[in-house]
Amino acid sequence: MLEVRDLHVNYGAIRALKGISFKVEKGTIVTLIGSNGAGKTTTLKAICGLVKARAGNIFLNGENITNKPTNEIVSRKTAMVPEGRRIFPNLTVYENLLVGAYQRNDKSGIKKDMEWIFSLFPVLKERMNQKGGTLSGGEQQMLAIGRALMSQPELLMLDEPSLGLAPIIVEELFEIIQKIHNEGKTILLIEQNAYAALSIAEYGYVLETGRIVLQGTGKELLTNEEVKRAYLGG
Ligand code: ATP
Repeated sequence: MLEVRDLHVNYGAIRALKGISFKVEKGTIVTLIGSNGAGKTTTLKAICGLVKARAGNIFLNGENITNKPTNEIVSRKTAMVPEGRRIFPNLTVYENLLVGAYQRNDKSGIKKDMEWIFSLFPVLKERMNQKGGTLSGGEQQMLAIGRALMSQPELLMLDEPSLGLAPIIVEELFEIIQKIHNEGKTILLIEQNAYAALSIAEYGYVLETGRIVLQGTGKELLTNEEVKRAYLGG
């Protein structure tokens, strides 16, 4: 579904990505893990056309989308939930979800998807008429994911959904991400929380200072000595 080949991105003299390659097959959940500054967000931004690839190619469903405008990429059944959530604090939960459906006009489909999202995140249903800004961090992350799902993406890309959340909330959130995947969505999960990400991912890549240094199934990486030492606290 998504293939990144030898991608290079620079910010002025800073080489943020030094030729990374990875694949996300349709129907799988793939994670890209790495510490702060490894280049994870830059990778997502390049896929979405928010930063320019200096070299390399990005293919979505076989089509070369490298350096295409963001709106063209988003209209190809992909959605990104950015780091830091960025929901609309002054809109209600319901209105925030509707924003995600702005390109659709199939009223009954929108209603059906809204019900689906409420079944995934019952707390959003309870808080339907509350302003987004009054939600807890975990609830805002759920809302951001729900909003992205309202655009009916086939590929959902999540940038550090666990950021700033308590471990118990991360656990709950990742169970829901797995459920979304089980219901047919392809997921690219960018994470610093290696344990949580590798626990639900079928395949993972480890990014260090702009290079992929390791890859394997989620299980393989969870038991890999290097990964354990560097990312799983020994
Ligand atoms: P984080 O966990 O902080 O999001 P990351 O793995 O997503 O980390 P990136 O944000 O992709 O890392 O950053 C990769 C490298 O590029 C870092 O060295 C960072 O300092 C640099 N960088 C990122 N954005 C910019 C920018 N707008 N201008 C200059 N350098 C940048």
